[in-house]
Amino acid sequence: MTETFRIALFPGDGIGPEVTAEAVRVLRAVEARLDGLCLETEEFSIGAGEFLSRGDPLPAHVFERLPEFHAILLGAMGLPGVRWPDGVEMTPQLDLRERLDLYNGLRPIYLFQGEDSPLRGRHAGDIDFVLIRESTEGLFSTRKVPRDLAADRATDTMLITRACSERVIRAAFQLAVGRRRRVTLIDKANVLPSMAFFRQVFDEIAREFPGVESDRVYVDAAALYLVQRPEMFDVMVTENMFGDILSDLAAALVGGMGMAPSADIGDRYAVFQPSHGSAPDIAGKGIANPVATILSAAMMLDWFNTDVSRRGAEMIRSAVRKVFSDRQARTRDMGGSLSTGEMGSAILAALPDGEYAGMTS
Ligand code: NAD
Repeated sequence: MTETFRIALFPGDGIGPEVTAEAVRVLRAVEARLDGLCLETEEFSIGAGEFLSRGDPLPAHVFERLPEFHAILLGAMGLPGVRWPDGVEMTPQLDLRERLDLYNGLRPIYLFQGEDSPLRGRHAGDIDFVLIRESTEGLFSTRKVPRDLAADRATDTMLITRACSERVIRAAFQLAVGRRRRVTLIDKANVLPSMAFFRQVFDEIAREFPGVESDRVYVDAAALYLVQRPEMFDVMVTENMFGDILSDLAAALVGGMGMAPSADIGDRYAVFQPSHGSAPDIAGKGIANPVATILSAAMMLDWFNTDVSRRGAEMIRSAVRKVFSDRQARTRDMGGSLSTGEMGSAILAALPDGEYAGMTS
């Protein structure tokens, strides 16, 4: 029996199209190696470039088509100079999260080769955790409130609701059950009432999972521990802004933004994308690292949750492991000289055949 999955492609802005093209090449090669997997893709234009050509960064006719797809694979959105008349940058990637209710922002952090970490003495696999960022409220909740830069004060609201906290914290515990069974809450409960409330909900959900250890770390200490002893983390869960900041710090531990995949998951929709932005400083040069997007595509195959798609995901991770075991095969952001396309080709060449992946996953 053939499993067919429909994927909406949103390459987006800056380096987005360059890294998405490599992920699609890898997906096509996986599809060709596996009997019973069919990936249908359709590309859409959304983002700052779409706004510049037709006036709307997230056109309604694209949004209306989304129920036809199993998942969205996104490159990157936004360009610093492309702003609304009030001066606010367009962020269609955040609008998508909110409109599709993608509350579970999964950011796996994995070190493929010790020498790619700025931390001393770490080996492949020593850094291996998932940061979960609540992605629909928190300190981003008032981001659309009109700005008045002439006023003499400004405020933002850290909105934490019971319903949104419960669902993301429960997702963290469920994920930990299949990993090393530890969930760390990152908060600021000693100072902020919203965070004390978040911790209370965490404590309640933790009692539903007696087989999973839980601990609680203030966000400032979490920044310290991420650098000093990242091995202590298995699954971390936090609010939107803390997660935004810590996920870049976490990416730095394993080689930078080009190594950090992500998924934004809701109950109905899911978007898979690298954690990085559109990197306008290197766009169009063919030097962006496509690995984060390729690993995000693997997360998408996992999320499809069939035997054949999970085998495809493991094939991709196995190819990345193999490429990174060669210390020379790196893009420039990681001190190497491979172009975006050469890195994509190296991963393609390292893909095992479907049968092999089935035996080793
Ligand atoms: P960025 O992630 O685009 O870039 C930060 C730094 O990392 C830059 O030096 C860049 O060259 C480097 N970098 C990022 N991805 C890389 C890759 N794959 N390979 C090699 N180097 C890479 O963050 P920024 O500069 O703060 O933001 C640029 C634009 O992207 C802004 O308009 C911002 O709003 C947008 N943005 C979008 C997303 C998204 O689409 N999810 C996320 C973050 C930022």
